[in-house]
Amino acid sequence: MAYELAPLPYDYAALEPFIDTETMKIHHDKHHQAYVNNLNAALANHPELAAKSVDDLLRDLASVPEEIRTTVRNNGGGHANHTAFWPLMGKVGSAGVGGAPSGPIAAQITTDFGDFEAFKKTFNETTAKQFGSGWGWLVFQAGKLKVISTPNQDSPLSQGIYPILLNDIWEHAYYLKYQNRRPDYLAAWWNVVNWNEVNRRFDLAKG
Ligand code: MN
Repeated sequence: MAYELAPLPYDYAALEPFIDTETMKIHHDKHHQAYVNNLNAALANHPELAAKSVDDLLRDLASVPEEIRTTVRNNGGGHANHTAFWPLMGKVGSAGVGGAPSGPIAAQITTDFGDFEAFKKTFNETTAKQFGSGWGWLVFQAGKLKVISTPNQDSPLSQGIYPILLNDIWEHAYYLKYQNRRPDYLAAWWNVVNWNEVNRRFDLAKG
């Protein structure tokens, strides 16, 4: 069965004023849809691969024939990353959205980074430095939280790591509102982070 684009779990305007409506429409309806379409096209003649979840595809790129591996890595990554990304944000003002983290992730952040401000600084600096397009990630590895970044649509799933939190630093995620000011976008983005979803993913990451 072909991969499908799920609707956003909130209105296009839900992240205003931090992420604008137009950006959300283009980002979800055009960019994410294109990754889904390209992935389906690449796997049209590979039903055994298309039967896997997109996360499982990325966990085992070696099983993908070499002639379509880069296409699957890029577009499967694009599909998986955005699918994880949308629910990690939430309507401004809802319970658990923006502000300081709550629940188990809050305690783990304090343990591993000292406090929330220090964690945000590490995340924003690491992510701001990623050259060109890519993603910033919070991962849990060997019992410890860690911030990493990847280029393009590369997913930590391909390194055997289940990501907890991610932020899209492709220009398509912020250019209409923030233009070249990636650090301003990164700073504003914390206002829309959905800590309920972060805690749900932290639980899965702990296995
Ligand atoms: Mn994107």
